[in-house]
Formats: sequence, structure tokens, C-alpha cells
Amino acid sequence: MQFTHFLTAYISIVLFVLGTVIGSFLNVLIYRLPLGLKFDRLSDHSFCPNCKHRLYAKDLFPLFSWLFLRGKCRYCKAPISPRYPIVEALNGVMYVLAYVVLCGGATEQGTGLSLGLLGYLAFFSALLVAAWVDAEHQIIPDSQWIVIFVAGLLLAGDKLIAEKGFTPDFVSFIISRGIGLVAVSGLFFLIALVTGGRAMGGGDIKLMAAVGFVLGWKAVVVALFAAAILGALFALLRKLFFKKKMRGVVPFGPFLAAGSALCAFVGEAIFDGYLDLFL
Ligand SMILES: [Zn+2]
Repeated sequence: MQFTHFLTAYISIVLFVLGTVIGSFLNVLIYRLPLGLKFDRLSDHSFCPNCKHRLYAKDLFPLFSWLFLRGKCRYCKAPISPRYPIVEALNGVMYVLAYVVLCGGATEQGTGLSLGLLGYLAFFSALLVAAWVDAEHQIIPDSQWIVIFVAGLLLAGDKLIAEKGFTPDFVSFIISRGIGLVAVSGLFFLIALVTGGRAMGGGDIKLMAAVGFVLGWKAVVVALFAAAILGALFALLRKLFFKKKMRGVVPFGPFLAAGSALCAFVGEAIFDGYLDLFL
């Protein structure tokens, strides 16, 4: 085993653990952001939503607490939402994928830990929170698109460092992000104008402006198509398997977030491949 492979594996494990720990903080955000609680309340003790018993470190250990307690509160045995381990595991997996796939892992030149990686980690975590809060409450907290926008700044800074200045590559990177800001969000804004805000919410507009700033215009356009396909698939499956049990409006935000996460990896490749196919 080459040293760079060993280093990549080692850092991946550390990032996965870090991702699950931050994931348990994201669960707190998902629970508390829609309640409008102030950030200074985030350091409050965690408690069981059912019996209000204070939760200790042994109850809050990412992934493992939920597994060992078989998804039940230690004190009152009320079921704990599978959202907790799912968010923790997803966040851990996304951190590893960001490092290995998007940043290339460790090479002879370095560890692969960079400003850009930090940007991607923030991007995926914010998408996760935005998706989950939107699914449960039909709102996307402003804090999440702001974090995504900051992630875009980190990625631009990373590109500038890699290019060592305002090279043509860096300039085209920035132009692509500038167009990305309005490519999908501009379309959403028009839809909101035409429908009087009924078909498209402000949260979706701001989310896709920030995502476009991170991914560039090609990938954010593909993300929109991916979101539409995922949303249609979900609606179809729901109709087939749940019939009348589940009704109500399905928010678009979770699908936009999923499409955006996917397109961080394959968005530009799909866009360019699609053009090659037809032009
Ligand atoms: Zn309890």
C-alpha cells in the first residue's frame, strides 16, 4: 500500500468521524432553527422531546447511541426519529466523498486538505440542513443559503491560491459562478413573479442563487433538471406505494438540495457530455 493511499484512508476515517459529530450538531439545528431559537440557546442541554429527560454524552454519541438504544429513548423508551442517525451518517459520507472524489485525497504534492475542501464540507452540511428543515416545515432558513454562499467564497479563494493569481482559468471560474448566481434563481424569480409567489418560494430562489455561486452555471442548471427528475420519481413512488396515506404539498427544496449535492460531483460532466451528444 502506497503511503498516499494510507494517508487518504486515514484522513477519510477522521473526516467520517468528524462528519458524524458535526452531523449530530446539524440535528440540533434542524430541530431548533424552525423554532426561531437564538443561537446562544444552541449550547443548552439536549433533552428527550418526549420525556424531557436531559441527555448525556452516552445518549448523544453519533450513530452508535441510536443503534445501541435501538432507536428508543433510554429513559422513557419513546421512539427516536431515524432522522438522527441518517443525518449523522449522510454528513459523514459526504465529507469522505468531498475529500476523496472532489479534492482527490492525498497525493505526492500534499494531503488534499484545503480551503476548497472546507468549502465543500460547509456546502454539503448546509444542503443537508436546508433539505431536512424544508421537508418538515416548508421553509429554508436564511442561515443555510448564507453558509452556502460563504462556501462559494472559500472555493473561489482556493481556486485563486491554486492558480496563483488572476489567470484566464480563474477569471472563467469566476464568470461561471457569477452567471451561476442568476441562472436558476433568475428563472425561479420569474416563476414567482408570474404566479404571485404561489409556485415558487423565496427560500428556493435564495438557495439556488447560492448553489449556483458554488457550482457554476453549468452544474446548477443540471442540478435543476436532476431535482425535477428526483421530485417526479418521488411523487410517482409515493402514489404507487402509499396511495391515500400521504397527501399534501411536497416541498421542492429537498430535491433541489439533493440535485445540487449530486451535481457537485457530476454536474459539469453531464452538461458537457450532453452537449457532445447533440452538437
Ligand atoms: Zn424520553
